[in-house]
Amino acid sequence: MVIRGEDGVAQAEVRRRNLSRMLRELHLGGPMSRSELAGGLGLNRSTVGSLVGELVARGLVQERRAYKTVVQAPGRPSPVVELRADGPAALAIDLSTDWIGAAVIGLGASVISLARHDRPLSETNPAQVVDELHDLVAPMLQGSGGRPSVVAIGVSVPGAVRAQDGYLHHAPNLGWRDVPMGDLIRNRFIELDVPVFVGNDADLAASAEHLRGSGRGSNDFICLWGEGGIGAGVVVGGRSLTGSAGYAGEVGHMAVDPDGYLCHCGARGCWDAQVGEESLLRRSGRDPLGGTAAVADLLSAADRGDEVALAALADSGRWLGIGLAGLVNIFNPTRVALGGLHARILPYVRDAVVRELDTRAMAASRAMVELTTVALGANALLLGAAELALAPTLYDPTIVPYVGPDRVETEQWRSGTAASVGHSAHMPSQGGATRISAHNG
Ligand SMILES: [Zn+2]
Repeated sequence: MVIRGEDGVAQAEVRRRNLSRMLRELHLGGPMSRSELAGGLGLNRSTVGSLVGELVARGLVQERRAYKTVVQAPGRPSPVVELRADGPAALAIDLSTDWIGAAVIGLGASVISLARHDRPLSETNPAQVVDELHDLVAPMLQGSGGRPSVVAIGVSVPGAVRAQDGYLHHAPNLGWRDVPMGDLIRNRFIELDVPVFVGNDADLAASAEHLRGSGRGSNDFICLWGEGGIGAGVVVGGRSLTGSAGYAGEVGHMAVDPDGYLCHCGARGCWDAQVGEESLLRRSGRDPLGGTAAVADLLSAADRGDEVALAALADSGRWLGIGLAGLVNIFNPTRVALGGLHARILPYVRDAVVRELDTRAMAASRAMVELTTVALGANALLLGAAELALAPTLYDPTIVPYVGPDRVETEQWRSGTAASVGHSAHMPSQGGATRISAHNG
């Protein structure tokens, strides 16, 4: 059948949108029956059958007989539709202040493999870090059952990133400036020949937490992420706040104390400098560059009732609460989740944080906000990076070629030589992809 004209274009777009909604439903909700899909998507059974058929033909989902023990309505049991384990996957990368992390993650946030190398990155040239990353990742791409179908790379970095091309303007806690991170990674992983998407760590953590963790069900949600410093991913009305180029949410560099510590960005008294790892360690009399080991030592001292350690934590907690009160006043969130360093110290600083929130946030907004920690732990960054990388597939499942009888096409897809699919005209630009990864509420 040849479809022409405006109506045809509209039909193809409706089809694309319904395939996207169905794939996203399975991606976020896990396996479900055709009737559950029909109910959830508001589509009739024959449309659902046709959409499932297309996703099966593209190797994205499979159907299996349901063996539910619960009493069901009379009639045949509805088969369960589930994501295929060998479907498209993302190579997710986490460049944090103190480690290099990587994972292969499929649709449905299924973690296929995971690796981490602990080492401080701040004294290292970005190109060398990317070389080490390549060594870390190489064994993950050579599984016994053949290479996973990596269709894109998603990268988390603690800095201001241009969404369009993954250009890292400044990562103060790494001491990196003007790094073409997207190009660097694309060139080092040239054998994969897949698109690369780079995002800010806090934005990616917020995306993953909003979809699957502490932010679920909250349309106005803030995820604060800090290891060396602090940044925010902000969800407003169900959508991520990106700013015009992707730089929004750099809350770490709002001034909270003009006479405070010098910040790595060059200014003095930024929130980042007042609540980051270095100031916490300095307040406790430890080496400010002691890293995660020194923080662990500080927390065990606090557990023993060490007064200097407890006072240092209370001081960091006070500054954390002061900045947080400002964010609560500006964004009126229902939930704020702390991740990284601040999730680890929250049990020690909660009283100090709450005291500042209670006195400085407007009462009406204060009453609505719940303070919690991230639910996905350190994996929030990798899951968020995977979400960014898989956004084009979720937006338009028809970019995935058909599999099945046509083995040639299948083999090309599996070996990655058909990766030009990733650059096809159907795929949104990287900027578009970033918007798609924004929460669809
Ligand atoms: Zn700063």
